[in-house]
Amino acid sequence: MGAALAYGLQRRGLSTLMLDEGDIAFRAARGNFGLVWVQNKGTDFPPYAQWTWTSAQSWSELDAEMQEITGEDIGYRRPGGVEICLDAEEFASTRAAMQRLQAHAPHVEYEMLDRKALSQVLPGLGPDVAGGCYSPADGHVNPLGLLRSLHQCFKSKGGRIENGERVIAVQRRGSAFSVDTANTRHHGARLVLAAGLGTAELAAMIGLKIPLRPERGQVLVTERLRPFLSLPVSMVRQTTEGSVQLGASKENVGFDEGTQAPVMNRIAARAVRVFPHLARARIVRAWGALRIMTPDTYPIYTQSQQHPGAFAAACHSGVTLAAAHALHLAPAIGDGVLPEALGPMHPERFEHA
Ligand SMILES: Cc1cc2nc3c(=O)[nH]c(=O)nc-3n(C[C@H](O)[C@H](O)[C@H](O)COP(=O)(O)OP(=O)(O)OC[C@H]3O[C@@H](n4cnc5c(N)ncnc54)[C@H](O)[C@@H]3O)c2cc1C
Repeated sequence: MGAALAYGLQRRGLSTLMLDEGDIAFRAARGNFGLVWVQNKGTDFPPYAQWTWTSAQSWSELDAEMQEITGEDIGYRRPGGVEICLDAEEFASTRAAMQRLQAHAPHVEYEMLDRKALSQVLPGLGPDVAGGCYSPADGHVNPLGLLRSLHQCFKSKGGRIENGERVIAVQRRGSAFSVDTANTRHHGARLVLAAGLGTAELAAMIGLKIPLRPERGQVLVTERLRPFLSLPVSMVRQTTEGSVQLGASKENVGFDEGTQAPVMNRIAARAVRVFPHLARARIVRAWGALRIMTPDTYPIYTQSQQHPGAFAAACHSGVTLAAAHALHLAPAIGDGVLPEALGPMHPERFEHA
């Protein structure tokens, strides 16, 4: 999120310094699943559904722009995606959720496919699959490619990155802000806190309450397989290189990024029920990473009323929202006013809850 915003600010002509704690930090950006996902987002919260849609619609612009700068294909594809349903109950609840979404977001197209229809789209489905929800709005990307490209694009526009620089204090000083790391003090007219799980602590230093908690996700990766999956499905996606990502769990285990065999077993078992031939694939890598969760799971965007010019942002789908952050939110921060559409995502909603 920080990289997307920093690129967007620099692209807008604002001289931007990105301070990043670095490789030892919790970093969802390095451990996520890479979905650019629209279906089932904001089912019961229209502003989030709309923001997700805006981002998905802007993704090809961001991708094309980054590719022109870096010459790199980061594997962004939008072939549509499928939420797999393993029984009639899952099928019914997915359909009900999509009907609620359509009530306020009729532009999000989808089709509930029974087992037979889904088999036409996804050959090799296991006998346990009851059906699924296909939406042409969904896509995926190589998440590490995204992170690297955002950094490269930011630097190519003149942005400065300091890695290994953990921010330990932020403060308002007159009309500007100061930011301290162990080594240096930096000054700036604007301050944007987008430090994942680290945002809560930093925001509190300028009087902003940003309630966040970690949620662990474990992900498995197989050896490279012949292409068999033309579009990402919930919990299984094949990368452009052929390896298959399986995941991701949702666990409340605090700040523990580890992996556990029983959880990995469940992930693998579900994937094998969906595509039985995966039982023969070798797992070559697995990891745990921490999602950035707010109390109601929806993003937080705010500008401090006490200290205008200080912004904070947090969300759990920063890959999906990367285009909105770089192309829409960053320019608004540059102008000093958050987009009106983000009003409902102010953290004050938790105080009145
Ligand atoms: C298992 C898993 C699967 C996911 N799958 C998807 C998906 O399919 N699609 C999707 O859209 N999203 C997905 N996500 C979420 C996505 O990874 C994040 O939303 C995205 O990485 C943006 O998070 P972030 O930038 O807020 O935090 P992070 O990626 O965690 O980055 C936080 C950054 O802040 C820095 N930092 C922290 N504290 C400080 C400090 N004091 N000083 C300086 N720097 C600091 C760290 O160095 C780090 O670089 C997934 C996440 C997980 C864990």
